[in-house]
Amino acid sequence: MVSQAETPFKKIESIMKHYIKTRHEKFITDFETIVNIDSSSDNKDGIERVARFFENRFKNIGLDTKILFLGEEKVPCLYAEHRPSKKPFDIMFLGHMDTVFPTGEVEKRPFSIKDNKAFGPGVCDMKGGLLVVLHVLETLKHEGILDSLSVCVAFNGDEETGSNASKEWIMSTAEKSRRTFVFEPCRPGYRFVLQRKGGGWFQVIVKGQEAHAGADPEKGINAVVELAHQIVKINQLNQNKVETTAQTTVIKGGDKVNIIPNRAEAWVDVRILKLEEKERIETFFKTLAKHPYLKGSEITIQGGINRPPMESGDATRKLWELVQSTGKKIGLPMEWISTGGCSDGNYTSAAGTPTIDGMGIVGANSHRTDEYAELGSIDNMVLLVAQVCRAIGEKG
Ligand SMILES: [Zn+2]
Repeated sequence: MVSQAETPFKKIESIMKHYIKTRHEKFITDFETIVNIDSSSDNKDGIERVARFFENRFKNIGLDTKILFLGEEKVPCLYAEHRPSKKPFDIMFLGHMDTVFPTGEVEKRPFSIKDNKAFGPGVCDMKGGLLVVLHVLETLKHEGILDSLSVCVAFNGDEETGSNASKEWIMSTAEKSRRTFVFEPCRPGYRFVLQRKGGGWFQVIVKGQEAHAGADPEKGINAVVELAHQIVKINQLNQNKVETTAQTTVIKGGDKVNIIPNRAEAWVDVRILKLEEKERIETFFKTLAKHPYLKGSEITIQGGINRPPMESGDATRKLWELVQSTGKKIGLPMEWISTGGCSDGNYTSAAGTPTIDGMGIVGANSHRTDEYAELGSIDNMVLLVAQVCRAIGEKG
């Protein structure tokens, strides 16, 4: 039985659902157009072509739109806004236009459809997601809902290489926004991303003293032995209840079997789920450098935690409740997951903005040639995001 409260929702939903269905073929045409533009992170011309495609379409629905060229590398990034008032943006739509696939990939395997799935470079990571944003905004415009919302769109061109040129811009845009939706792929089964670990790496460099291993061992300071002790200490960082991990993944040291090595180094991959762990871990490595095990050996540390975690605090959980309940009304299963991988959602979350990721098209196998997007999810995701926007516009 449909409750009374649900009745208006169902009515608006069915009108919108019908309209989105009529746009399905247009989505597919757009999909083919933008997947068939090579836009690897180093292909600035290709990224700009993708940006121009969106620039035209956003301008058509009245958004103030511009293409920025950020950093020394002049990375093309697209910014669009619709701001009826000076208040913070209700929603920031975030995505990236670059892919991991080299120029020439489109020629080898252009956009194609098989078994209700779309294939092609960046099809789910994340050209499908960019189109969800466009089609949501066009739908909201058509339905007369856009004017009740203040929204901004940020599409960068360097996410796959760490967003070095666009990170500050993304964070400052997030600071002006009440919430951020990131359009990385939704996981199969309609699973969204509320938490991502942050992290970074540390390099531990040990300087010892070279000596003949047989004739003069007392004159040597064994850098490998020193490093081995430190690695054991570092490994203890994994024993905690906050899911921080510190994995020593590369070690180097020594040269000849009969020489006590004067240098050794290790690389440590660190992942954190809570931002306060950044200080604890960085202090740990600083302290480690001051307390060598062998007299006379020297330890230096390089690196640090440079990617903050995407945390799911109370405000994010509240936003999730809205997204989840909206999706359930449409009939989607709606689950969320936590992952060790990063996205630009890590930066918007660190800027203090509630962030939900995985709002793009449903798909899998990112960064692989068998990457796919589920065509059946197109209308569902456009409807879901548009309905969430409508609810936000009504409730503020
Ligand atoms: Zn991506």
